[in-house]
Amino acid sequence: MSTRILVTGGTGLVGSAIKYVVETTEKRGDETWFFVGSKEGNLTDLQSTRELFDKYKPNKVIHLAAMVGGLFHNMKNNLDFLRQNMLINDNILLVCHEFNVEKVVSCLSTCIFPDKTTYPIDETMIHNGLPHDSNFGYSYAKRLIDVLNRGYFEQHNRLFTSIVPCNIYGPNDNFSPTASHVIPGMIQRLYNLINDSTTNTPQEERVFTVYGTGKPLRQFIYSHDLAKLAIWTLREYDSVSPIILSVDEEDEVTIEFVARSIAKAFDFKGRIEFDTTKADGQYKKTASNKKLRSYQPDFQFTKFEDAIKHTVDWYLQSKSQNAIRE
Ligand code: GDP
Repeated sequence: MSTRILVTGGTGLVGSAIKYVVETTEKRGDETWFFVGSKEGNLTDLQSTRELFDKYKPNKVIHLAAMVGGLFHNMKNNLDFLRQNMLINDNILLVCHEFNVEKVVSCLSTCIFPDKTTYPIDETMIHNGLPHDSNFGYSYAKRLIDVLNRGYFEQHNRLFTSIVPCNIYGPNDNFSPTASHVIPGMIQRLYNLINDSTTNTPQEERVFTVYGTGKPLRQFIYSHDLAKLAIWTLREYDSVSPIILSVDEEDEVTIEFVARSIAKAFDFKGRIEFDTTKADGQYKKTASNKKLRSYQPDFQFTKFEDAIKHTVDWYLQSKSQNAIRE
């Protein structure tokens, strides 16, 4: 019998990458995948969540649906991030239990770890201290998934687990001018700067402004790489404790390097400057992928500059077809 796999948040950055991967390199005849987005049901509502599960009757679930956003969106909406995500996660895991779902993989993030910590961060440190002030709402809601998973295991012997990706980017990201993360945020801002027809300033004299000092460090994973690892987690990883899905520590880059890579992918000829009046957020959140490497020692991550180029090319093509999510 075919395994029925439901992906919540199935039309977003990670969901669409998983869809691409299971329909190409990771296709299997004994699995049927369903990718659902917010139009299919309101996951903050328990009854609506039950109706969704009644429709798809999944055996396994990848739970990606969440209120998400970049640094500046989090700083303005901490309460909403906390409440919406707590509601969604509580409903999903309860309904998975009610429908006897045999395995759930939920998505956390390396940004939920304690702000004051030692590096690199590993899976045992999620609950060790206060998260960064900028995203305390999102962080506590996501940390509670790990608490719920533990509870469902101890009381009901459920295999509900979680993955902890570093910063993610790729096609189908949210390119909103106000809510986006740094890579889609910079891509849409640089596109607008290059294509600004209200000025005659030659491109060589145009200035691309990076928010903050450009010094913070981040590990970035390409959505297609994360998709492969999330599928592997669903199929093979049989522990309730979280697993960090991140690039290696030596692949950490500065925000300035990100800006220069995006500028190169656009072949931007102007200057790059830094607006240091804007927030930097966490200086770094370096995570260890030692646990992942113990299972997948040879996994090859896509080179950052290559994946940035793919993402910018995808953006340019989608923009020309008016198919960008903002
Ligand atoms: P974070 O990794 O959770 O902090 O979230 P982001 O993806 O929003 O990354 C934020 C970092 O990128 C901060 O250091 C920002 O100051 C910097 N940054 C530079 N330009 C931008 C931009 O256009 N959008 C966003 N979201 N961040 C930017």
